[in-house]
Amino acid sequence: MIRDFFRVMMVNLTTGKTTIIERPGRSEYLGGTGLAARLFEEFGLMDEDWDHPEQPVIFAIGPLTGYYPLMSKTCCAFRSPYHNEYTESYAGGKSALSLRFADLDALMIVGKAKRLTALCVGSRVVETRDVEYMRGFDAIHTGRVLRKMFPGSGRRSIMRIGPAGENLSAYACINVDTYRHFGRMGGGTAMGVKNLKAICVLGDRGFELPQNKEYPKLYKHIYEQLTTTEMMSKYHGLGTAVNINPLNELKSLPWKNLQQTSSPEAEKISGEKFADDTLLRNAACAGCPVGCIHVGFVREQFQANNQYLYRQVGYDYEPIFSCGGMLEVTNTGDVLRILDVIEKEGLDNMSSGVAMAWATEALEKGVISEKETVVKLAWGDADTYMKAVELISRPPNDFYKLLASGTLKCAEVYGGEDFACVLGQEMAGYATGEVFAVSEALGFRHAHLDSGGYSYDQSHEEQDVEGALDFLVNDGRDRIVINSMVGCLFSRGVYKDDLLAEAMEAVGYGGLNGKMAEIGERVQKLKWRLRIGMGYAPAAVKIPKRYKEITTWKGKLDTDYLEALRTGYAARIMELGAPLKEEE
Ligand code: SF4
Repeated sequence: MIRDFFRVMMVNLTTGKTTIIERPGRSEYLGGTGLAARLFEEFGLMDEDWDHPEQPVIFAIGPLTGYYPLMSKTCCAFRSPYHNEYTESYAGGKSALSLRFADLDALMIVGKAKRLTALCVGSRVVETRDVEYMRGFDAIHTGRVLRKMFPGSGRRSIMRIGPAGENLSAYACINVDTYRHFGRMGGGTAMGVKNLKAICVLGDRGFELPQNKEYPKLYKHIYEQLTTTEMMSKYHGLGTAVNINPLNELKSLPWKNLQQTSSPEAEKISGEKFADDTLLRNAACAGCPVGCIHVGFVREQFQANNQYLYRQVGYDYEPIFSCGGMLEVTNTGDVLRILDVIEKEGLDNMSSGVAMAWATEALEKGVISEKETVVKLAWGDADTYMKAVELISRPPNDFYKLLASGTLKCAEVYGGEDFACVLGQEMAGYATGEVFAVSEALGFRHAHLDSGGYSYDQSHEEQDVEGALDFLVNDGRDRIVINSMVGCLFSRGVYKDDLLAEAMEAVGYGGLNGKMAEIGERVQKLKWRLRIGMGYAPAAVKIPKRYKEITTWKGKLDTDYLEALRTGYAARIMELGAPLKEEE
């Protein structure tokens, strides 16, 4: 049944009290990113740091979750340990559908447990378990134990952290079900600081599907669009790993800590090569017929008993860029072995790979020594990188503690800031040009998906500062509408405005059609107000020198254009995040 209010479960880990709260605002905030920002505005502490026990961690879904394919993501919002400001991360798996089946628009956790705790919530259950004995358990082992601890059907989602989240790394992730993650900006540590090892969401209640004639027809139409047209076949086929070769040809593939933007070696870790060498199967988020998740295998031989062990490891473009190209690891199996350790430790793979790439160059240049790095990091040396991942997750010294708090923070102390590939956080895999660099460096989540700066670079040779800034703001707003739904961004070619309007109409939210742009703008402004209110100063964001040295398909990066975009985007963000006037 649709409703015009939000039903939110608030669990307080300090008091053990659970409250169901209802809030109006569906027509103002829609859900997902809008709902999370709305809740953070009410419950977040603007004047306290990220690690204050009462800071909320929010998981929010959207109005179409469960009703249509690929409406399968959850927005996780929190005050980030990375920059101590408001942020978000997105993941799918079974998280969104389980919240829908638990009859919740959002789950909000506040407070701090005394001891390491696992929380299980459903429509009829709230249970906490003392899991202090699981301290130090890796994320895969934790998932196995949790599945036994909280038995359930397919409508059950298990979100948990590894040692990195317990040890408060600023880029610890939350592992979701199998091969999905709230990856960036330290969601794992937002849980870890609350002594929250895991959350199990039990979808223990049903929900009614619309009984009108239009809904099944529309569902079938959308399903066909997603499964039989060319639009989505790339994601199922080779997956996003298919991007390695074209980005390499475009001189846009970050390589060897961005010392290069292409390499003749890239072919060895292309999507085609991964599929040939390692691909075992595809997997999918609940309710998704596309199945973009690619699972490869690695085989290990134990010398002691001559036994073989096969491990399954998820991969796509971003982890291949960060733990392959950036480290010059050019063997598919080696890339998967590094990713396997990252998965277990519960770290964000992009940040981990980029941090290790910086440390390798810093060691090579003599900026740091083996006294700091403990192991001899060297380009292409996968075994050593596997050890370094554990050192980031379980820091043995001040150097790794600092590296785990962010590459640039580490470089500010030890040197090597010029070649720290940090754009707000460790970069995503697109050395496409000026617009991408500025969009990630200044963008709300510092994610390549905040707006399509990378695609703008690839299709615009001309330099048009105002045109590019309009694109970043408008495309960012359009994505906020999808993130309020919370749909998979891969489906945005299918869910165009008209189809989205039909989808809303068929489930009873037709009254919101015609308001989407207005909602997008309201949420965009609210998110920026929250961030700026916590101290964000976009004009102060620096873009490291390494980006000013790169050559892309357009030639050498133009530093004047970069600077005009940087200052222009900072001004636009400040306008968006300006305090409300009284009548607003
Ligand atoms: S396309 Fe991929 S990420 Fe998107 S919902 Fe489907 S499986 Fe999940």
